[in-house]
Amino acid sequence: MTKQTNWGGNYTYRAARWHHPHTVEEVQDVVRRSAQVRVLGTRHSFNGIADTPEDLISLKHLNRVLALDEGQQTVTVEGGVRYGELCRYLDERGWALHNLASLPHLSVAGACATGTHGSGNRSPGLAAAVTAMSLVTAGGHVTTVSREQEGASFEGMVVGLGALGVVTSLTLKVEPSYLMRQDVYEHLPLTQLIQRFDQITGSAESVSLFTDWREPHVQQVWLKRRVSPQDTFKPDAEWFGATLAQRHLHPIHHLSAAPCNQQLGIPGPWFDRLPHFRAAHTPSSGQEVQSEYVLPRTHAPAALYALSALGKRLAPVLLISEVRTISADELWLSPCYHQDSVSVHFTWHPDERAVRALLPEIERELAPFGPRPHWGKVFTLPPARLEHLYPRLPDFRRLVTTWDPGGKFRNDFLNAYVFGNSCK
Ligand SMILES: Cc1cc2nc3c(=O)[nH]c(=O)nc-3n(C[C@H](O)[C@H](O)[C@H](O)COP(=O)(O)OP(=O)(O)OC[C@H]3O[C@@H](n4cnc5c(N)ncnc54)[C@H](O)[C@@H]3O)c2cc1C
Repeated sequence: MTKQTNWGGNYTYRAARWHHPHTVEEVQDVVRRSAQVRVLGTRHSFNGIADTPEDLISLKHLNRVLALDEGQQTVTVEGGVRYGELCRYLDERGWALHNLASLPHLSVAGACATGTHGSGNRSPGLAAAVTAMSLVTAGGHVTTVSREQEGASFEGMVVGLGALGVVTSLTLKVEPSYLMRQDVYEHLPLTQLIQRFDQITGSAESVSLFTDWREPHVQQVWLKRRVSPQDTFKPDAEWFGATLAQRHLHPIHHLSAAPCNQQLGIPGPWFDRLPHFRAAHTPSSGQEVQSEYVLPRTHAPAALYALSALGKRLAPVLLISEVRTISADELWLSPCYHQDSVSVHFTWHPDERAVRALLPEIERELAPFGPRPHWGKVFTLPPARLEHLYPRLPDFRRLVTTWDPGGKFRNDFLNAYVFGNSCK
């Protein structure tokens, strides 16, 4: 079999055998027969988190929506469903999710397993919607766990890094469908952002700030607001010193906005406004690398100020940076565990060596603010540092050891960052 890479093209999977089961029974069979096994979602992570030297399972054929329970306001999906598919199904029936990531092509299971998030001062990460999951465990049995039954340990299982078993279905909280509009401002002075961070990020349900750190302003601010069908909102032409954009924009200024969802305040369904990119636009390979750090929101002004001093150092490798906010949650390995957060994301040119050479400088600048790295992206923080940043890692290790005592679902990534010697 030819070598398979992740979406970004920076990671080549090492798995000896690939499996594409069509049923849960086939998943159970693979897990029973395998000594080392991992599950792959839609390959949007940028590191080896999903990999294994032996058996890699893709759930791309297990991609049905199983049940919508309108009374309980939940939907249950199979482990291979992508957000794009789920959103359309929900909206057609008058339902919605609380938030989405920048891209609708991600699998629900993979996104939740790594603590993926959108933006919003009052909006937690995507995994906060999970109320129950079915897993094929190391012994090949199917077990269903829920917040109701498991209590506190459920909070340890949802952002599970694929370490507890194969998630074959998830139940998510839904809410009535809603419309949104997206307005973009250009050239927000950094001084304004630093002085009025909470006010600016609280100006809409979801706020994204795009910058390359080269100028003393943020190039674009994307404001996503919920609106009624009779929306009469008129955005100010000037806002905190920024100017309302009069045409559709791509976050990377010189690129065509064709792949982006509609802006200019045009109302549309929630799932066509929350992600930056259209579901119908199918990016094959990104040819990029990403990194992201999540810190307590109270540190946002100081952290942004510190990063702005690095602008010239970042420039040769950086495509664009995005700053978002996320509200606190209870999920042990969520980067937003017990803290209202700000995330600083970097989309890099596809030169991982140069990126890895630069990351320690960024991590040094952010060190005073406790930067929790995104599990699915590239970082160079040592495992011992993660032990301090993720206070529930010891509890998670115990949970994983109970569920998978033989270490069938472990891989190099988990051995380093969850079970590393330096962590003990
Ligand atoms: C273009 C792009 C945009 C992105 N936007 C955002 C964003 O807006 N916000 C954000 O926070 N992140 C974002 N990310 C990161 C992305 O959300 C995470 O990397 C996420 O894990 C990707 O999901 P996936 O299905 O591709 O998972 P994969 O990369 O395939 O796998 C990730 C992890 O999930 C586990 N996993 C997957 N499926 C299962 C399953 N069924 N059972 C058990 N474990 C499973 C894997 O074992 C692995 O540990 C983005 C990435 C890209 C490439």
